[in-house]
Amino acid sequence: MYVVATPLGNLGDITLRALEILRTVDVVACEDTRHARRLLDHHGIKATTMAVHQHNEREAGAKLVERLRQGQSVALISDAGTPAVSDPGARAVAAVQAAGFPVVPLPGPNAAITALSASGLMDERFLFVGFLPAKSAARQAEIAALAGIPAALVFYEAPHRVTECVADLAALLEPSRELVVARELTKLFEQIVRLPLKEAVVWFAADDNRQRGEFVLIVSAPPPREGLDPGTERILKLLLDDLP
Ligand code: SAM
Repeated sequence: MYVVATPLGNLGDITLRALEILRTVDVVACEDTRHARRLLDHHGIKATTMAVHQHNEREAGAKLVERLRQGQSVALISDAGTPAVSDPGARAVAAVQAAGFPVVPLPGPNAAITALSASGLMDERFLFVGFLPAKSAARQAEIAALAGIPAALVFYEAPHRVTECVADLAALLEPSRELVVARELTKLFEQIVRLPLKEAVVWFAADDNRQRGEFVLIVSAPPPREGLDPGTERILKLLLDDLP
């Protein structure tokens, strides 16, 4: 089974290898068959499709394994970007692996990496968080737990929650951190903006258009701590307590 990354918006963002595989496999397993058809039609590919989404992934995985057993080849795609990254796919991949068939990834678009590449942030490390919880208390608890991690943080967010999410990030993270808003990547209204986190709430409120579309939010790493981090301090204290 081939796991094939597909465009985030611009239908031209697909590799030659991905087109070749989509053209030649027996079946394309996709999140939404109508959505997939737009991409396939655009490239003149007449593939057979079958739906594999979060509500049928277990049964669909078994069906994919059955097809592989019959000697067929399968390509797995999602609606946008890389399957199994904040998208269905992982269960189907695990089922195929468990049945002893090879899984071949075809690299390509991914919103997090695309946003990072144009973020201008120089942090060497990043943590991909994906979607935060929808409920405010759970979201705030998770942001608080991420606050001390010495890495840039990468979030996915839906338009109807982006302002709440940004308000929580601004309230709970070190205010000198920067925010990169990567909106509608590869599409007509693509926008990539870097601003101090403490100005982010005002920035979003200034224009309703800034709250529309699909978002990757990246928060730069926290400033380096003075002294030791809490974990190292705890270990040193334990060691010192044991010294005669
Ligand atoms: N599998 C995809 C990937 O590889 O990035 C992610 C799919 S996830 C269901 C959808 C989320 O990805 C959106 O809510 C948004 O946060 C992000 N995303 C997808 N396309 C985007 C785009 N064109 N611009 C900005 N963010 C995007």
